[in-house]
Amino acid sequence: MISFAGGLPAPELFDIDGFKAAFDRVLADSPRRALQYSTTEGDADLREAIAQRLTARALPTDSDDLVITTGSQQALTLITATALEPGDVVLVEDPCYLAALQTFGFAGARVVPVPTDDDGIIPEALDEIAAREPAKLLYLVPTFQNPTGRTLPAARRTAVAEAAARHGFWIVEDDPYGELRYDGEQVPWIAASPAASDRTILLGSFSKIMAPGLRLGYLRAPAAIRRSCVIAKQAADLHTSTVDQAVAARYLRDSDLDAHIRTISDAYRERRDALLGGLPTALPFGSRWNHPAGGMFVWVTLPEGHDATELLQVAVSHEVAYVPGAPFFAGTPDPAALRLSFTTHSPEEIGEGLRRLAKTFA
Ligand code: PMP
Repeated sequence: MISFAGGLPAPELFDIDGFKAAFDRVLADSPRRALQYSTTEGDADLREAIAQRLTARALPTDSDDLVITTGSQQALTLITATALEPGDVVLVEDPCYLAALQTFGFAGARVVPVPTDDDGIIPEALDEIAAREPAKLLYLVPTFQNPTGRTLPAARRTAVAEAAARHGFWIVEDDPYGELRYDGEQVPWIAASPAASDRTILLGSFSKIMAPGLRLGYLRAPAAIRRSCVIAKQAADLHTSTVDQAVAARYLRDSDLDAHIRTISDAYRERRDALLGGLPTALPFGSRWNHPAGGMFVWVTLPEGHDATELLQVAVSHEVAYVPGAPFFAGTPDPAALRLSFTTHSPEEIGEGLRRLAKTFA
Protein backbone atom coordinates (compact mmCIF):
# COMPACT_ATOMS: atom_id res chain seq x y z
CA MET A 1 0.00 0.00 0.00
CA ILE A 2 1.27 3.46 -0.84
CA SER A 3 -0.66 5.88 1.31
CA PHE A 4 -1.15 9.56 0.59
CA ALA A 5 -3.72 9.50 3.39
CA GLY A 6 -1.90 9.97 6.69
CA GLY A 7 -0.90 13.32 8.08
CA LEU A 8 2.23 11.87 9.65
CA PRO A 9 5.76 13.26 9.65
CA ALA A 10 8.39 11.01 8.03
CA PRO A 11 9.75 8.77 10.83
CA GLU A 12 13.10 8.17 9.09
CA LEU A 13 13.77 11.90 9.48
CA PHE A 14 13.32 12.00 13.28
CA ASP A 15 16.56 13.17 14.92
CA ILE A 16 16.94 10.03 17.00
CA ASP A 17 20.57 10.71 17.99
CA GLY A 18 19.67 14.21 19.13
CA PHE A 19 16.84 12.85 21.31
CA LYS A 20 18.97 10.06 22.74
CA ALA A 21 21.54 12.64 23.77
CA ALA A 22 18.90 14.96 25.24
CA PHE A 23 17.24 12.15 27.24
CA ASP A 24 20.66 10.99 28.51
CA ARG A 25 21.64 14.47 29.62
CA VAL A 26 18.32 15.20 31.32
CA LEU A 27 18.45 11.92 33.24
CA ALA A 28 22.13 12.44 34.12
CA ASP A 29 21.94 16.10 35.16
CA SER A 30 18.50 16.56 36.76
CA PRO A 31 16.76 13.18 37.08
CA ARG A 32 14.84 14.03 40.23
CA ARG A 33 13.43 17.23 38.79
CA ALA A 34 12.68 15.56 35.44
CA LEU A 35 10.74 12.73 37.09
CA GLN A 36 8.81 14.89 39.56
CA TYR A 37 5.45 16.68 39.24
CA SER A 38 5.86 20.20 37.86
CA THR A 39 3.91 23.40 37.22
CA THR A 40 0.81 23.50 35.02
CA GLU A 41 2.15 26.38 32.87
CA GLY A 42 5.10 24.26 31.80
CA ASP A 43 8.89 23.98 31.98
CA ALA A 44 10.46 27.43 32.38
CA ASP A 45 13.42 26.67 30.07
CA LEU A 46 11.15 25.31 27.37
CA ARG A 47 8.84 28.32 27.55
CA GLU A 48 11.83 30.66 27.40
CA ALA A 49 13.20 28.86 24.33
CA ILE A 50 9.80 29.04 22.59
CA ALA A 51 9.46 32.73 23.48
CA GLN A 52 12.84 33.38 21.89
CA ARG A 53 11.92 31.48 18.74
CA LEU A 54 8.64 33.39 18.35
CA THR A 55 10.32 36.72 19.07
CA ALA A 56 13.00 35.95 16.46
CA ARG A 57 10.19 35.38 13.94
CA ALA A 58 8.72 38.85 14.61
CA LEU A 59 6.20 37.97 17.30
CA PRO A 60 7.52 39.56 20.52
CA THR A 61 6.76 36.99 23.21
CA ASP A 62 7.57 36.64 26.90
CA SER A 63 7.79 33.16 28.42
CA ASP A 64 4.89 34.15 30.70
CA ASP A 65 2.67 34.55 27.62
CA LEU A 66 2.93 30.79 27.01
CA VAL A 67 1.38 27.62 28.38
CA ILE A 68 2.84 24.26 27.37
CA THR A 69 0.14 21.82 26.26
CA THR A 70 -0.01 18.10 25.58
CA GLY A 71 0.10 18.61 21.82
CA SER A 72 -1.67 21.56 20.30
CA GLN A 73 -4.74 19.32 20.24
CA GLN A 74 -4.99 19.83 24.01
CA ALA A 75 -4.85 23.58 23.54
CA LEU A 76 -7.97 23.28 21.38
CA THR A 77 -9.70 21.32 24.15
CA LEU A 78 -8.68 23.85 26.81
CA ILE A 79 -9.87 26.82 24.79
CA THR A 80 -13.12 25.03 24.07
CA ALA A 81 -13.60 24.27 27.77
CA THR A 82 -12.92 27.83 28.86
CA ALA A 83 -14.46 29.91 26.08
CA LEU A 84 -17.46 27.96 24.81
CA GLU A 85 -20.90 27.18 26.21
CA PRO A 86 -23.30 24.81 24.44
CA GLY A 87 -24.95 26.69 21.57
CA ASP A 88 -22.15 29.24 21.18
CA VAL A 89 -21.19 29.98 17.60
CA VAL A 90 -17.74 28.99 16.37
CA LEU A 91 -16.77 30.19 12.91
CA VAL A 92 -14.50 27.87 10.92
CA GLU A 93 -12.92 27.92 7.51
CA ASP A 94 -14.64 25.44 5.24
CA PRO A 95 -13.08 22.86 4.82
CA CYS A 96 -11.54 22.69 8.30
CA TYR A 97 -9.17 20.54 10.39
CA LEU A 98 -11.31 17.56 11.34
CA ALA A 99 -10.29 17.14 14.99
CA ALA A 100 -11.09 20.81 15.64
CA LEU A 101 -14.59 20.27 14.26
CA GLN A 102 -14.91 17.28 16.61
CA THR A 103 -13.67 19.24 19.64
CA PHE A 104 -16.15 22.08 19.04
CA GLY A 105 -18.91 19.57 18.29
CA PHE A 106 -18.36 17.63 21.55
CA ALA A 107 -18.76 20.89 23.47
CA GLY A 108 -22.15 21.48 21.86
CA ALA A 109 -20.95 24.56 20.00
CA ARG A 110 -22.74 25.57 16.83
CA VAL A 111 -20.11 25.39 14.09
CA VAL A 112 -20.75 27.87 11.28
CA PRO A 113 -18.71 27.45 8.09
CA VAL A 114 -17.13 30.46 6.41
CA PRO A 115 -16.50 30.12 2.65
CA THR A 116 -12.93 29.90 1.36
CA ASP A 117 -11.15 30.09 -1.98
CA ASP A 118 -7.63 29.09 -3.04
CA ASP A 119 -6.24 31.74 -0.64
CA GLY A 120 -8.18 30.51 2.40
CA ILE A 121 -10.96 32.22 4.29
CA ILE A 122 -12.75 35.06 2.42
CA PRO A 123 -12.77 38.16 4.68
CA GLU A 124 -15.91 39.68 3.10
CA ALA A 125 -17.82 36.45 3.74
CA LEU A 126 -16.48 36.34 7.30
CA ASP A 127 -17.63 39.90 7.92
CA GLU A 128 -21.07 39.22 6.51
CA ILE A 129 -21.56 36.01 8.54
CA ALA A 130 -20.20 37.57 11.77
CA ALA A 131 -22.67 40.44 11.37
CA ARG A 132 -25.63 38.05 11.55
CA GLU A 133 -24.16 35.27 13.76
CA PRO A 134 -22.71 36.70 16.99
CA ALA A 135 -19.70 34.37 17.32
CA LYS A 136 -17.47 33.54 20.29
CA LEU A 137 -14.48 32.57 18.20
CA LEU A 138 -13.05 31.96 14.79
CA TYR A 139 -10.79 28.93 14.34
CA LEU A 140 -8.39 28.83 11.43
CA VAL A 141 -5.09 27.36 10.23
CA PRO A 142 -3.74 30.28 8.18
CA THR A 143 -0.50 28.65 7.01
CA PHE A 144 -0.34 25.40 4.98
CA GLN A 145 -3.76 24.45 6.22
CA ASN A 146 -4.94 20.96 7.01
CA PRO A 147 -6.59 19.67 4.79
CA THR A 148 -6.00 22.08 1.89
CA GLY A 149 -2.36 23.23 2.18
CA ARG A 150 -3.60 26.78 1.58
CA THR A 151 -1.97 29.89 3.06
CA LEU A 152 -3.88 33.05 3.92
CA PRO A 153 -2.14 36.11 2.38
CA ALA A 154 -1.01 38.97 4.64
CA ALA A 155 -3.77 41.37 3.55
CA ARG A 156 -6.46 38.81 4.42
CA ARG A 157 -4.85 38.24 7.82
CA THR A 158 -5.18 41.93 8.56
CA ALA A 159 -8.79 41.87 7.35
CA VAL A 160 -9.54 38.85 9.61
CA ALA A 161 -7.95 40.65 12.58
CA GLU A 162 -10.05 43.75 11.87
CA ALA A 163 -13.23 41.67 11.56
CA ALA A 164 -12.49 40.08 14.97
CA ALA A 165 -12.05 43.52 16.54
CA ARG A 166 -15.21 44.83 14.87
CA HIS A 167 -17.43 41.90 15.84
CA GLY A 168 -15.74 41.02 19.14
CA PHE A 169 -14.80 37.35 18.64
CA TRP A 170 -11.64 35.49 19.61
CA ILE A 171 -9.30 34.20 16.92
CA VAL A 172 -7.69 30.79 17.41
CA GLU A 173 -4.71 30.77 15.04
CA ASP A 174 -3.53 27.16 14.82
CA ASP A 175 -0.05 26.92 13.32
CA PRO A 176 1.52 23.46 13.44
CA TYR A 177 2.88 23.67 9.86
CA GLY A 178 4.22 27.24 9.49
CA GLU A 179 7.88 26.34 9.94
CA LEU A 180 7.71 23.72 7.19
CA ARG A 181 8.12 26.26 4.38
CA TYR A 182 9.74 25.13 1.12
CA ASP A 183 9.42 28.32 -0.97
CA GLY A 184 8.83 32.00 -0.35
CA GLU A 185 8.75 34.08 2.79
CA GLN A 186 6.99 33.72 6.14
CA VAL A 187 3.63 35.55 6.26
CA PRO A 188 3.16 37.43 9.57
CA TRP A 189 0.99 35.75 12.19
CA ILE A 190 -2.49 37.14 12.79
CA ALA A 191 -1.39 37.28 16.45
CA ALA A 192 1.13 39.96 15.38
CA SER A 193 -1.57 42.17 13.87
CA PRO A 194 -2.21 45.22 16.11
CA ALA A 195 -5.95 45.00 15.42
CA ALA A 196 -6.28 41.59 17.10
CA SER A 197 -3.21 40.99 19.25
CA ASP A 198 -5.41 41.17 22.36
CA ARG A 199 -7.93 38.67 21.03
CA THR A 200 -5.79 36.08 19.23
CA ILE A 201 -4.70 32.77 20.72
CA LEU A 202 -1.78 31.29 18.78
CA LEU A 203 -1.27 27.52 18.94
CA GLY A 204 2.11 25.96 18.19
CA SER A 205 3.35 22.39 18.11
CA PHE A 206 6.56 20.38 18.10
CA SER A 207 4.80 17.46 16.41
CA LYS A 208 5.77 18.28 12.83
CA ILE A 209 9.22 19.78 13.46
CA MET A 210 10.51 17.44 16.22
CA ALA A 211 8.29 14.39 16.77
CA PRO A 212 4.55 13.96 17.45
CA GLY A 213 5.17 11.20 20.02
CA LEU A 214 6.48 13.85 22.41
CA ARG A 215 2.97 15.35 22.55
CA LEU A 216 4.33 18.86 23.02
CA GLY A 217 2.51 21.98 21.95
CA TYR A 218 1.88 25.41 23.37
CA LEU A 219 -0.57 28.26 23.40
CA ARG A 220 0.27 31.95 23.42
CA ALA A 221 -2.67 33.94 24.71
CA PRO A 222 -3.70 37.18 26.41
CA ALA A 223 -3.57 36.94 30.22
CA ALA A 224 -7.25 36.36 31.04
CA ILE A 225 -7.84 33.44 28.69
CA ARG A 226 -4.39 32.04 29.45
CA ARG A 227 -5.22 31.87 33.17
CA SER A 228 -8.51 30.11 32.44
CA CYS A 229 -6.67 27.62 30.23
CA VAL A 230 -4.20 26.92 33.07
CA ILE A 231 -7.10 26.15 35.42
CA ALA A 232 -8.70 23.90 32.79
CA LYS A 233 -5.38 22.16 32.21
CA GLN A 234 -4.95 21.59 35.94
CA ALA A 235 -8.23 19.71 35.87
CA ALA A 236 -7.33 17.84 32.70
CA ASP A 237 -3.82 16.49 33.39
CA LEU A 238 -2.07 18.71 36.03
CA HIS A 239 0.75 19.32 33.56
CA THR A 240 2.37 17.98 30.42
CA SER A 241 5.05 15.29 30.97
CA THR A 242 7.90 16.89 32.94
CA VAL A 243 10.55 14.66 31.45
CA ASP A 244 9.44 15.20 27.85
CA GLN A 245 9.40 18.96 28.36
CA ALA A 246 12.87 18.85 29.90
CA VAL A 247 14.12 16.77 26.97
CA ALA A 248 12.69 19.23 24.45
CA ALA A 249 14.26 22.15 26.33
CA ARG A 250 17.60 20.33 26.40
CA TYR A 251 17.28 19.50 22.70
CA LEU A 252 16.64 23.15 21.91
CA ARG A 253 19.76 24.08 23.89
CA ASP A 254 22.19 21.46 22.59
CA SER A 255 20.93 20.63 19.09
CA ASP A 256 20.19 22.86 16.13
CA LEU A 257 16.44 22.61 15.58
CA ASP A 258 16.58 25.07 12.68
CA ALA A 259 19.14 22.88 10.90
CA HIS A 260 16.86 19.89 11.50
CA ILE A 261 13.89 21.82 10.10
CA ARG A 262 15.99 22.61 7.01
CA THR A 263 16.79 18.91 6.61
CA ILE A 264 13.16 17.81 6.79
CA SER A 265 12.05 20.74 4.62
CA ASP A 266 14.55 19.75 1.90
CA ALA A 267 13.18 16.19 1.92
CA TYR A 268 9.54 17.32 1.96
CA ARG A 269 10.15 19.83 -0.87
CA GLU A 270 11.44 17.00 -3.05
CA ARG A 271 8.45 14.83 -2.13
CA ARG A 272 5.99 17.65 -2.79
CA ASP A 273 7.61 18.29 -6.17
CA ALA A 274 7.45 14.57 -7.03
CA LEU A 275 3.74 14.59 -6.23
CA LEU A 276 2.97 17.82 -8.10
CA GLY A 277 5.07 16.70 -11.08
CA GLY A 278 3.13 13.44 -11.40
CA LEU A 279 -0.40 14.69 -10.80
CA PRO A 280 -1.13 15.82 -14.39
CA THR A 281 -0.80 12.25 -15.69
CA ALA A 282 -2.33 10.56 -12.62
CA LEU A 283 -5.58 12.52 -12.34
CA PRO A 284 -8.49 12.61 -14.78
CA PHE A 285 -8.60 15.48 -17.26
CA GLY A 286 -10.28 18.52 -15.70
CA SER A 287 -8.99 17.89 -12.17
CA ARG A 288 -7.70 20.88 -10.21
CA TRP A 289 -5.13 21.03 -7.42
CA ASN A 290 -3.02 23.61 -5.61
CA HIS A 291 0.77 24.08 -5.23
CA PRO A 292 1.35 24.62 -1.50
CA ALA A 293 4.58 26.39 -0.55
CA GLY A 294 4.95 24.20 2.55
CA GLY A 295 3.26 21.88 5.00
CA MET A 296 2.17 18.34 4.21
CA PHE A 297 -0.92 18.47 2.00
CA VAL A 298 -2.15 19.03 -1.55
CA TRP A 299 -5.88 19.54 -2.12
CA VAL A 300 -7.36 18.00 -5.24
CA THR A 301 -10.77 18.55 -6.83
CA LEU A 302 -11.71 15.85 -9.33
CA PRO A 303 -13.92 16.76 -12.30
CA GLU A 304 -17.65 17.17 -11.71
CA GLY A 305 -19.43 13.84 -11.21
CA HIS A 306 -16.50 12.09 -9.49
CA ASP A 307 -17.07 10.93 -5.92
CA ALA A 308 -13.77 10.67 -4.02
CA THR A 309 -15.34 8.59 -1.21
CA GLU A 310 -16.63 5.92 -3.64
CA LEU A 311 -13.41 5.94 -5.65
CA LEU A 312 -11.32 5.30 -2.53
CA GLN A 313 -12.32 1.61 -2.60
CA VAL A 314 -11.07 1.36 -6.17
CA ALA A 315 -7.84 3.13 -5.17
CA VAL A 316 -7.31 0.74 -2.24
CA SER A 317 -7.80 -2.23 -4.60
CA HIS A 318 -4.82 -0.79 -6.53
CA GLU A 319 -2.90 -0.43 -3.24
CA VAL A 320 -2.94 3.34 -3.01
CA ALA A 321 -4.88 5.54 -0.57
CA TYR A 322 -5.90 9.15 0.02
CA VAL A 323 -8.37 10.93 2.29
CA PRO A 324 -11.72 11.92 0.77
CA GLY A 325 -12.40 15.61 1.32
CA ALA A 326 -16.07 15.43 2.31
CA PRO A 327 -15.66 14.93 6.11
CA PHE A 328 -13.57 18.10 6.41
CA PHE A 329 -16.50 20.30 5.42
CA ALA A 330 -18.65 21.92 8.10
CA GLY A 331 -20.97 23.15 5.34
CA THR A 332 -22.00 21.43 2.10
CA PRO A 333 -19.33 18.85 1.29
CA ASP A 334 -17.66 18.73 -2.10
CA PRO A 335 -17.75 15.01 -3.03
CA ALA A 336 -15.06 15.52 -5.66
CA ALA A 337 -12.44 16.84 -3.21
CA LEU A 338 -9.62 14.80 -1.69
CA ARG A 339 -6.46 15.36 0.35
CA LEU A 340 -3.04 14.01 -0.59
CA SER A 341 -0.17 13.98 1.88
CA PHE A 342 3.33 13.83 0.42
CA THR A 343 5.56 13.48 3.51
CA THR A 344 5.97 9.78 4.24
CA HIS A 345 7.14 8.35 0.89
CA SER A 346 10.29 8.80 -1.20
CA PRO A 347 9.94 10.49 -4.61
CA GLU A 348 10.22 7.03 -6.23
CA GLU A 349 7.42 5.62 -4.08
CA ILE A 350 5.33 8.71 -4.80
CA GLY A 351 5.84 8.06 -8.54
CA GLU A 352 4.63 4.47 -8.09
CA GLY A 353 1.70 5.65 -5.95
CA LEU A 354 0.66 8.02 -8.71
CA ARG A 355 0.80 5.23 -11.32
CA ARG A 356 -1.57 3.26 -9.09
CA LEU A 357 -3.79 6.30 -8.64
CA ALA A 358 -3.99 6.69 -12.44
CA LYS A 359 -5.39 3.12 -12.65
CA THR A 360 -8.11 4.16 -10.18
CA PHE A 361 -9.44 6.68 -12.68
CA ALA A 362 -8.77 4.62 -15.84
N1 PMP B 1 -3.93 21.37 14.40
C1 PMP B 1 -3.82 20.93 13.15
C2 PMP B 1 -4.24 21.82 12.05
C3 PMP B 1 -3.28 19.67 12.88
O1 PMP B 1 -3.19 19.26 11.62
C4 PMP B 1 -2.85 18.87 13.97
C5 PMP B 1 -2.25 17.50 13.78
N2 PMP B 1 -2.62 16.77 12.72
C6 PMP B 1 -3.01 19.37 15.26
C7 PMP B 1 -3.54 20.62 15.45
C8 PMP B 1 -2.64 18.58 16.49
O2 PMP B 1 -1.28 18.44 16.60
P1 PMP B 1 -0.55 18.02 17.93
O3 PMP B 1 -1.58 17.77 18.98
O4 PMP B 1 0.23 16.80 17.59
O5 PMP B 1 0.33 19.19 18.27
